[in-house]
Amino acid sequence: MKFFARLRKQSPPEESPFVRPALLYEPAGSKIRCLTCERRCVIAPGETGWCGTRQNRNGQLVTLTYGMASMVSANPIEKKPLYHFYPGSKALTIGSYSCNFACPWCQNYTSSKQLAVGEVFYAPEDFIAEAREQYCQGVSISFNEPTLSLEWSLEAFCLAHQAGLYNTFVTNGYMTEAALYRLAQAGLDAMNVDVKGGPKAVRAFCDADVEVVWRNLRLAQGLGIWIEVTTLVIPTVSDDPGDLSLIAGRISRELGNHVPWHVTRYFPAYEFDEPPTPVLTLEQARSIGQEMDLQYVYVGNVPGHRAENTFCPNCGKMLLQRWGAERVENLSQTGKCPACSTPIPGVGWDWKESR
Ligand code: SF4
Repeated sequence: MKFFARLRKQSPPEESPFVRPALLYEPAGSKIRCLTCERRCVIAPGETGWCGTRQNRNGQLVTLTYGMASMVSANPIEKKPLYHFYPGSKALTIGSYSCNFACPWCQNYTSSKQLAVGEVFYAPEDFIAEAREQYCQGVSISFNEPTLSLEWSLEAFCLAHQAGLYNTFVTNGYMTEAALYRLAQAGLDAMNVDVKGGPKAVRAFCDADVEVVWRNLRLAQGLGIWIEVTTLVIPTVSDDPGDLSLIAGRISRELGNHVPWHVTRYFPAYEFDEPPTPVLTLEQARSIGQEMDLQYVYVGNVPGHRAENTFCPNCGKMLLQRWGAERVENLSQTGKCPACSTPIPGVGWDWKESR
């Protein structure tokens, strides 16, 4: 946690554009409790919470990273991954710094674990204007944990809908219910949520309670947000067939067997040096998902793998052909299988590019 300690020492001054009032907190004796995510940090005056992005300044909670961009780029929506949501479209994607999880294998550690001394400020309106200039169909908050950009996201999402753009989040799903309600109200359309493993692994490696993630998945779906689930299959962490079976079974029972599950390949990163996930392990994970009745289980991070494609669960016809995130051919723009008319769950199948 060296990074967070350094962040605290370098808190930006009051007049910085990155410092804004935080939205969700409550008094806790002489301290305040942050209600942005389920860590619910109790923060003394002058201190910051676990993630280092929120600080108690004279009894008021402020965010220190409002509009602080670590990276902005226009990405295919498949990169999130969201496979049943405006397939082939482009989302202008922004990330900031820090995280509220401790995963030692972080694949995005350059933004999530690095010092938040970014100087690039994006106002929500400038971000939305850029999305339109780059002919994107939507926006995404990603790269680091987007919950930490809650206040900025709410403003951006409202503006995006006004501009006819969709809104997405790529998240560990650890926000409070209050934060999730706000996001839904502001126009969050779709989320890819990482279920990182079974309860023991998530507690041991991420210092988190995976039940919160399941609660939020059910809640988000109830609020009308399109959901896809990702599990990064990591040797010795999340490749246990029992844990994979548990995750697949819960998706099927609690969210529905139409919800896509992405079992993606891990590569060594940050502080974790297990070798990359064998492709065979991913294929076994996919079989486990199918045994649990999931209709759409995708193998991720293996460009060219057959299980990147979408097939009709009824007749087996290929409906979307993919090559990594970069090449997508939508063979069914009606949301139905052209061979047997089986409806394919998802959103925005029939979107059309307009310039
Ligand atoms: S966002 Fe989460 S981790 Fe960060 S200060 Fe608030 S409760 Fe703590």
